Amino acid sequence: MPRLTLALLILLTLLSACAAVQRSEPTSAAPRWAIAIHGGAGVMAGLSPEAQRERLDSLRRALSAGRDILSSGGSSLDAAERVVRILEDDPLFNAGKGAVFTEAGTHELDAAIMDGSTLKAGAVAGVKTVRNPISLARLVMQQTRHVLLTGDGAEAFATEAGVERVPNDYFSTPGARRELERVLDDRRRKQAAGASADLQSEPPSTRMSTVGCVALDTAGRLAAATSTGGLTAKRWGRVGDVPIIGAGTYANALAAVSCTGVGEQFIRHTVAREVVALMTYRGLSPRAAADELISNRLNPDDGGLIVVSATGEIALVFSTPGMARGAADSSGRFEVGLYREMER
Ligand code: ASP
Repeated sequence: MPRLTLALLILLTLLSACAAVQRSEPTSAAPRWAIAIHGGAGVMAGLSPEAQRERLDSLRRALSAGRDILSSGGSSLDAAERVVRILEDDPLFNAGKGAVFTEAGTHELDAAIMDGSTLKAGAVAGVKTVRNPISLARLVMQQTRHVLLTGDGAEAFATEAGVERVPNDYFSTPGARRELERVLDDRRRKQAAGASADLQSEPPSTRMSTVGCVALDTAGRLAAATSTGGLTAKRWGRVGDVPIIGAGTYANALAAVSCTGVGEQFIRHTVAREVVALMTYRGLSPRAAADELISNRLNPDDGGLIVVSATGEIALVFSTPGMARGAADSSGRFEVGLYREMER
């Protein structure tokens, strides 16, 4: 008898321990919504405190707008487009106003948006007069049978769609012009010395400040959006990774990714899609998948990326000295950062 009592006691103890474990599960529940943003991987070491503050304030403003949409039940697509529009209008970033110059002294803008719940995507490349290329990309997704429109065709569609137009020099800023002169000088010096002037040998650009946003909404839908002026002193007609679905921008039902960095490298390694593939086929976490691409497959200083998964996990990973970025979710997280550390 005492043995039976002891066995019963042990059984009861085990059962109550299991119940306790089950009860504790809800505290680790995934966030209901989540959002991450970036303002490019070109943040150089040694920015003045004033320049850092300006960038952090801009990131906070954009992140708050995305948070407000998601926390009031809005869609991840609306949040991603809104955040990217705000950063496109901000001259501190290399997208929309503030875009870098081509070597011909003009601006050619690329943007893409993708809806992870339907795999619908829209992108534009080489647009010159569209104030907010991300909104034109969304209209390509919603109003055409196509994914990517380029150059004159994209401009003609912009006219049909009635989006806001600006003269090409609306995008120009003194900072982007100084950067063009610096890169062209450097190129001329190298050429005079007989060195090759390919992309990999160019100094990491301080204007590598493409913008992007990935979001998960309360309905469980993921979206990714990215917008850029490209790389300083690029050849006219050059298209980077941003509007190439699977390279700089990708979203499906499992995760959404937006990249920043040397676009040619992100195209070669189909980085955005590869992050999601590693999560799908190797079961990696967003952080581990992003690390694999940024640290093991790309070259040091190639750039960075942001990921949000369907469970609301966020990863913000870069190999450059800094990446302007931010993250927020329904558990109360709200932080922005430029270098390794984040600020609340
Ligand atoms: N990825 C962009 C491009 O190559 C540049 C950037 O991230 O700033 O067009």
